[in-house]
Amino acid sequence: MATSRLSWQAWRARPLLVSSVTLLGVGAFYTSRSFLLPTGHAESPEPSKVFGGFGFTTLRLKSSTTVNHNTKRLVFEFPDEAATSGLSLTSALLSISRPEGRWLPVLRPYTPISSLEQPGFIEFMVKKYPNGKSSTHLHSLKPGDTLTFAAALKGFPWTPNKFSQVYLIAGGAGITPIYQLVRGILENPNDKTKINLVFGVNTEQDLLLRDELEEYRNRFPDRFNYLYTVSHPQEQGSPLRKGYVTEELLRNVVQDPGKDTHVFVCGPPGMEDSLVGSRCAPGGILGRLGFTKEQIYKF
Ligand SMILES: Cc1cc2nc3c(=O)[nH]c(=O)nc-3n(C[C@H](O)[C@H](O)[C@H](O)COP(=O)(O)OP(=O)(O)OC[C@H]3O[C@@H](n4cnc5c(N)ncnc54)[C@H](O)[C@@H]3O)c2cc1C
Repeated sequence: MATSRLSWQAWRARPLLVSSVTLLGVGAFYTSRSFLLPTGHAESPEPSKVFGGFGFTTLRLKSSTTVNHNTKRLVFEFPDEAATSGLSLTSALLSISRPEGRWLPVLRPYTPISSLEQPGFIEFMVKKYPNGKSSTHLHSLKPGDTLTFAAALKGFPWTPNKFSQVYLIAGGAGITPIYQLVRGILENPNDKTKINLVFGVNTEQDLLLRDELEEYRNRFPDRFNYLYTVSHPQEQGSPLRKGYVTEELLRNVVQDPGKDTHVFVCGPPGMEDSLVGSRCAPGGILGRLGFTKEQIYKF
């Protein structure tokens, strides 16, 4: 693992940790007082921060929209419509749910795709995995249902302009933290970082947030570019590149792995291992391209 503390992969690979957190979670779940309590103060001039302090936060689902065969967008409303998330860039939120028929709650992190400064609501994009405990539960939620969040998980400590450019490599649903970063950088007028995104998916349908990414490329043509690669294209004559995220592809994208660049990676285990290496196969494509471990962050 590179510099990340708890990657998508590591999260899934730590049943013991998850059970311990779960047990802690159960206690807190039942003793929490924060259910749907507005966190704002009428006399306070500053909008309140929903995830700014301690305690669990329960939010009501406002809408659930199907994106494709396995993905939905879920919008949760804040109790105070002027409140903002209070999250820092690259954060995720740890959700707690009690899928039907399960005694213990299930804890899973999800990454907001709405602006972290957005007042009134927060939006997630959730991929449903076959027999996935949490993702199946989240997909079953209807407007008016609630979901509880236990904690905010900080990701990479982003500092505007610390790097001249960044390479972002996403696979499938791993686009969510990558998109949050793209959005945070480009929407900050003081941040001039250039962004090169490589997004690998199975089929064209899996190109999540495609319209949003295209809009950013139109707005920031000198600072933001992306390349899509589709391993199993289903459309005849698709203009998109066919194949996986390979060394050859990245050699064409990465102009200079210099010290003032950084790479962010989020995708399925096989893709992440081939990029950053694994215990069984140390090294990895990014190492061969000249990036050091310190230059690589795995969500
Ligand atoms: C920091 C962080 C942020 C995340 N943000 C998002 C997000 O914004 N949107 C989102 O959809 N997910 C996100 N995830 C993944 C999410 O937390 C869950 O792991 C995912 O929803 C599956 O949970 P589950 O309980 O449904 O599946 P489980 O019951 O844990 O697993 C069911 C089956 O699905 C497989 N599976 C589970 N997760 C994955 C995976 N990531 N890749 C491949 N196979 C898998 C398992 O191997 C198993 O076979 C994030 C993870 C982390 C660590």
